[in-house]
Amino acid sequence: MIDPIKNIRDEEALVVFSGGQDSTTCLFWAKRHFARVTALSFVYGQKHALEVELAEKIAMKAGVRFERMDIPFIAKLSHNSLTDPSIVMDKEKPTGTPPNTFVPGRNLFFLSIAAVFAQQHGIRHIVTGVSQTDFSGYPDCRDAFIKSLNVTLNLALEDQFVLHTPLMWLDKCETWALADELGVLDLVRRETLTCYNGIPGDGCGECPACRLRRAGLEKYLIEKTRSHE
Ligand code: ZN
Repeated sequence: MIDPIKNIRDEEALVVFSGGQDSTTCLFWAKRHFARVTALSFVYGQKHALEVELAEKIAMKAGVRFERMDIPFIAKLSHNSLTDPSIVMDKEKPTGTPPNTFVPGRNLFFLSIAAVFAQQHGIRHIVTGVSQTDFSGYPDCRDAFIKSLNVTLNLALEDQFVLHTPLMWLDKCETWALADELGVLDLVRRETLTCYNGIPGDGCGECPACRLRRAGLEKYLIEKTRSHE
């Protein structure tokens, strides 16, 4: 009888990898579940080019293949505070619209490019760290979008991709718990870059990404201490 889990474990996964908390947790999740892992990072005109350098370092530490793809057109398509230094970042989420840290179409482009890359390399599993729980108003982090895109990619490329979203229903506290369970809590805490101001590790502490990350970590560390009492 065919063991579907075993078959997956024999296969390779491609992780869309930014070097942030979420995608780093996904990288180690993929390492646990797949025989081989490739990390794919995009240089898309983000203000903090350090992001990709850190991503490469983490991939080396994890012992996975690292690929980098330059797609500078993303920064030219829209005005947002992640790629345009003249725009001041939204500190709070505005009502009715995504915050100006939203890069329109980013996950659509990333995952479409990842699928073409995966197909060229004979990979059918694609892992992304999007989460609907803490989606911060970004529409392309939601489960319906991922499921819809999975169907579209399979039709567009005549393939059988499986988009994996291990963080989809986890909040930041649970994402820290997963990193700990995977044995990489310290690595994720000290070496990833999530901060919108480009400061690795615990970051600036002030931007929305830092506040979300820190609140989740504090909650997790309290829960962990309590469970050991
Ligand atoms: Zn920050």
